Amino acid sequence: MNILGFDIGGTKTMVGVAEESGKVLAMQRFETKGNLGPEQALSRMKEAARRVINEAGVTPDVIGIGCGGPLDRKSGTLYTVPNLPGWEGICLTREFGDEFGVPAFLENDANAAAMGEHLFGAGKGVDDFVFLIVGTGIGGGIIANGRIYRGFGDNAGEIGHHKIIPEGPPCPCGDRGCLEALASGTSIARIAREQLDRKPETLLWQWISSPEEVTAELVARAAGQGDSFASSIWQECMYYLGIGVANVVNILNPRLVILGGGVTKAGELLFEPVRRIVRERAMPALAADVEVVPAKNGDLVGLMGAFAVALENVRYRQ
Ligand SMILES: [Zn+2]
Repeated sequence: MNILGFDIGGTKTMVGVAEESGKVLAMQRFETKGNLGPEQALSRMKEAARRVINEAGVTPDVIGIGCGGPLDRKSGTLYTVPNLPGWEGICLTREFGDEFGVPAFLENDANAAAMGEHLFGAGKGVDDFVFLIVGTGIGGGIIANGRIYRGFGDNAGEIGHHKIIPEGPPCPCGDRGCLEALASGTSIARIAREQLDRKPETLLWQWISSPEEVTAELVARAAGQGDSFASSIWQECMYYLGIGVANVVNILNPRLVILGGGVTKAGELLFEPVRRIVRERAMPALAADVEVVPAKNGDLVGLMGAFAVALENVRYRQ
């Protein structure tokens, strides 16, 4: 079986063709340009898919699509998606299914990524794990008893929006003090930015000319080089991330917590404190069961997720 996969993000889209084993035969990455409106952006995606199919030299049997939500998985339709303005009501499964004449299935991007890690990545063969993608935001997906856990309305797994500090900083979801508002890449940069003016001695000023230029990646780099300001910001954010993971461990008793996304490129600088805090703060019996590990699908996490969405749907006819 050959799969055509679409990983549609607010800024970047990836299209690829893979075999059932997850072996990628061809792929392309390009700007989504969602602001052009759905019609133009979708026709660019279809064009890219035709090129990728050509290059792979096979005909797809099924299509999997991962996209930022909220969305209605069953009808394949987007609701009001914050980073794709004007796309409300677009039925992605019909758009791509009709274009290529095969069944198409849609899933929100974080669930898709969790499914991709389950079939092809760090969660292969593991039936109970939680996947967290720590990037611009924080998304989550729960694999329970070998299947994605979707909840009553298909929206389970919003781990980025469980509360760490009830009256904490505002979060893009409209509430305050969520994990995402304290430990996402955007939040790490924001917390550093708020204090930069009072820290003329920090290394960060050697790499930026205004506070707006600070990124989580730069904070991690400066922390890694022993900069005391960057280290204190980084440690604070990792503390919140660790607490968030410990909460998840207490609630779900997973075998693994898999962490992916741009912020996890910091490597041990991230994993060491998170593992330590989980050991200290989760209940001992549950902390003993869990390992906190990096995702394996790397930059392809969304695309591998899209392939997994197609396979899951074919296998279980959901
Ligand atoms: Zn939130």
